[in-house]
Amino acid sequence: MYSEVFPSIDQNELMSVIEEVGSRDVQVALQKDQLDIKDFAALISPAADPYIEEIANKAHQLTVQRFGRTILMYAPLYVSNYCTNGCRYCGFNHQNLMERHLLSHGQALDDAAVIASEGFRHLLLVSGEDPRYVDEQYLGELAVKLKGRFSSIGVEVQPLEESGYRHLSECGVDSLTIYQETYNTELYSEVHPSGKKRDFNYRLDTPERGALGGMRKVGLGVLLGLGNVSLDACNLALHARYIMQNYWRTQVSVSFPRLRAAEGGFQPYDPVSDRTLLKLICAFRLYTVDAVLVLSTRESAQFRDAVFPCGITQMSAGSKTNPGGYSSQDDTLEQFHVEDSRSVAHVAAAIREQGYEAVWKDWDPLLV
Ligand code: SF4
Repeated sequence: MYSEVFPSIDQNELMSVIEEVGSRDVQVALQKDQLDIKDFAALISPAADPYIEEIANKAHQLTVQRFGRTILMYAPLYVSNYCTNGCRYCGFNHQNLMERHLLSHGQALDDAAVIASEGFRHLLLVSGEDPRYVDEQYLGELAVKLKGRFSSIGVEVQPLEESGYRHLSECGVDSLTIYQETYNTELYSEVHPSGKKRDFNYRLDTPERGALGGMRKVGLGVLLGLGNVSLDACNLALHARYIMQNYWRTQVSVSFPRLRAAEGGFQPYDPVSDRTLLKLICAFRLYTVDAVLVLSTRESAQFRDAVFPCGITQMSAGSKTNPGGYSSQDDTLEQFHVEDSRSVAHVAAAIREQGYEAVWKDWDPLLV
């Protein structure tokens, strides 16, 4: 498991690589087909700035070669904002005295009906981490009810045991998203002062438990801005490649959630600029060539339209990040503020305008 591999990565050595790469290393990386972690570090370094156009072009070409001119569309459905964790950067943290909601299956199906009517066939069930409300049984039964409407159902919930993922897989869930948030173990402890999420290694091994439990796709990510962005990105790249090499049946996706100010006043330690985010997207395309790269509505319409051709292959649209947000007018607290508030049709039209196809379904359980 990766928790046995991770301690062998000398973080000081990795940081030295990041600090020492220069212009020549960027040029070398651009000539290679198979990049190593030093190449990746070069592509996200300040030395890469003068080459940004060349890097973006190469990332674009590779993406078109591997995925065509397509963007897979998905929608998140928040089923609960109950959470037992104390993540300092998140508005859902249990210390935040807010009204909590758990959608009944009926209410979740109402939200899902709105999402389906907009054209989506890929659905991501999201919740805070509180197994008293959202557990394998709740998710499994809901997935069974949703199966006829959606060709792919993913979960972004608390880490489960392998048997939990197997149960969900049998109920029709086929993908898992779990962000490590940061690979800096000290910072991880600091920003996760309470709750089960404090267990760094348990979280680190979650994508593998998912893969072993039958998930055909696992999504990784760090909260960009939480820790040192370059170091977290390098660790994420290594983790993604490890999964790709050891679980060849499982597709890996990488997301780029940029940390925003949260309820409770948390401010990002290391804010990530648009330029840095663009470099990260391109570097992941060049380093993990076949990975699905995801950009959500956390980012503005302008930014998403400008950068998606540089490597992104999956996007959300019309998202609501509060439970019941699609079908009721209730103004419950959002997990994060949606920056791209365009309608689904508007986002799809913007994708088509750039010569891409918005794909609503690229998978069917019958394909197994
Ligand atoms: S980030 Fe997730 S686990 Fe942490 S408080 Fe927010 S909802 Fe809970």
